[in-house]
Amino acid sequence: MKAVYLLTLSLMPVMILSCGPNKQETGTAVPEKFEYLADRFGDTKVMRYQVPGFDSLSLQQKTLVYYLSQAALCGRDILFDQNFKHNLAIRHTLEAMYAGYKGDRASEGFKAFEVYLKKVWFANGIHHHYSMDKFVPGFSREYFMEMAATMPEVTLPLMEGETRDAFLQRVGDILFDPSIAPKRVSLDDSKDLVLGSACNFYEGVTQAEVEAFYAAMKDPKDPTPISYGLNSKVVKGEDGKLRELVYKQGGMYGPAIDKIIFWLEKAVGVAENDHQRRTIEALIAHYKSGDLEAFDQFNVLWVQDLDSRVDFVNGFTEVYGDPLGMKATWEAVVNFKDIGATRRTEIISANAQWFEDNSPVDPRFKKKEVKGVSAKVITVAQLGGDCYPSTPIGINLPNADWIRKEHGSKSVTMENITYAYDQAALGSGFLEEFCSDTTEIARAEKHAFKADNLHTDLHECLGHGSGQILPGVSSEALKNYSSALEETRADLFALYYLMDPKLIELGLFDTDEVPKAEYDRYIRNGLMTQLTRIEKGKDIEQAHMRNRQLIAKWVLEKGAADKVVELFSKDGKTYARINDYQKLRTLFGQLLAEVQRIKSEGDYAAGKALVEQYGVKVDPVLHAEVLERYQKLDLAPYGGFINPTFVPVEENGKIVDVKIEYPASYTEQMLKYSKEFGLLPVYN
Ligand code: ZN
Repeated sequence: MKAVYLLTLSLMPVMILSCGPNKQETGTAVPEKFEYLADRFGDTKVMRYQVPGFDSLSLQQKTLVYYLSQAALCGRDILFDQNFKHNLAIRHTLEAMYAGYKGDRASEGFKAFEVYLKKVWFANGIHHHYSMDKFVPGFSREYFMEMAATMPEVTLPLMEGETRDAFLQRVGDILFDPSIAPKRVSLDDSKDLVLGSACNFYEGVTQAEVEAFYAAMKDPKDPTPISYGLNSKVVKGEDGKLRELVYKQGGMYGPAIDKIIFWLEKAVGVAENDHQRRTIEALIAHYKSGDLEAFDQFNVLWVQDLDSRVDFVNGFTEVYGDPLGMKATWEAVVNFKDIGATRRTEIISANAQWFEDNSPVDPRFKKKEVKGVSAKVITVAQLGGDCYPSTPIGINLPNADWIRKEHGSKSVTMENITYAYDQAALGSGFLEEFCSDTTEIARAEKHAFKADNLHTDLHECLGHGSGQILPGVSSEALKNYSSALEETRADLFALYYLMDPKLIELGLFDTDEVPKAEYDRYIRNGLMTQLTRIEKGKDIEQAHMRNRQLIAKWVLEKGAADKVVELFSKDGKTYARINDYQKLRTLFGQLLAEVQRIKSEGDYAAGKALVEQYGVKVDPVLHAEVLERYQKLDLAPYGGFINPTFVPVEENGKIVDVKIEYPASYTEQMLKYSKEFGLLPVYN
């Protein structure tokens, strides 16, 4: 529930500020010419990121990064299978055709096929990673069959006893029939969410059955509940009863989990300290047993590991991929602390109690004591599973509310990633097209990179950690609206405090042009520019996008009498403008108080009303205009990253150094990962 994605990927300003990771005190100099952009297809661009500071790590730390990086790549197949049960079969088929097709590879048909395959790699399946809609291939079914006819049967992943024709019919139906598995995650709660979603967390069961199954398991009085259902698929047995297929060694996804354990065990041997060693061992214990209490034990240790330079996420973590918000997709991030930039987040964290005490929220919903809000700026070294290639720019974990309350949470900002976004977007013309005037453009160019990093810091290390749920209220009370409302809450906390004089007092910046730049961007994005990511005629589904529109539209409406925020027309184009930043801040505070009340009281009806009224529907006229203007810029609205490769240098069987290499292309890395980390059978 707590990953943050970049507001709008092409919004990064063009100025390079001193806080960029290439100016790190501990880092090595970045080569003058680094090719950030790796590929571009459809609505997506793929970039590379650098790992500044890696050379400043000790050999032991570098080796640890290497082992954890290997572990981070072992769960790729798991995610493909979780996203949709036919994804692995489809990926194998497409890759075999891509490698073996002997026909005209310069034809329009083949080019469209290649784009489709790149999209499938990017989304870890055949549904768009953001909109959740099934991709529509740019080539015909006939062309697909023509290609397939040239393939040797042995290269196709037939099911046992399946004929070649039956296989191609089956895969063809899945790819080309729009009525089959149209959506990976459906949040349309007028229908059965489980049956309406193509994700592979449930099979042969209805939403009502699943809800009853878990309701019977839960003890509402348990102060330290496990994350029920987090790491399993629910199926119906022959006896008609529901049961869980648990992801663990020897269980579902066992072959991939074996390999994850293998690399984690190596990591144990080079852990930086005893606490980190025990943390990794606890994660291994969880993978071996599938036990969720063991997972909580791991998380408690992990959140307390603050001294290690190297850190990681590895496991079944976020629940965005499940319409019921219970089942976690597998993800991994390997990183190390950016010591210079972390000073900024330490200042914020050290004042967490002040922020909590002074927030505009009803005192009943505030934490009396904010614990362990640790925050750091990290340098990402490797991305895996649900963090790859589409990459968050900040993470706040663990997700279990009781652990957060009792032990705190760890919050990170991934600054080498935001920096790479920034670099790849240089001179795109985006600001010129959508900013309301030259003042706004200049402000964005000068302050937006810094402002956005601060927004992420505040969102992560204060926003999610703030507030408390009233006793007896379930953390799942907001159901399908919980993710959007939680992100709304964290964003509002960040927005409200960005404009607080306290931040200047703390020395985080010295002019209110910084928060103004963020307010400009937030409103511009929430009201207009994020619509570039929505197809014509569609509503907003994704939690972060719902949250951003919710906030922007709410303040537009509530401040209408005073024109706090307005949409206006100039030369036939619509622009958003903020006329009163202080009043806007007050409105953010009012909405924060209400969203916190909704969460604290578990007020589902009010939460639903807020999201549905402000966060879901788009104005079709404005939407069409924004799409048209955006199209003229010829930019890609989505972005993601390929990984560097860590290569151990060995002498006499011992690692004496670890080198970084960069893949030549996106396709090269994807094919390599499929080959080297294709750890699961096609049919699980
Ligand atoms: Zn968040």
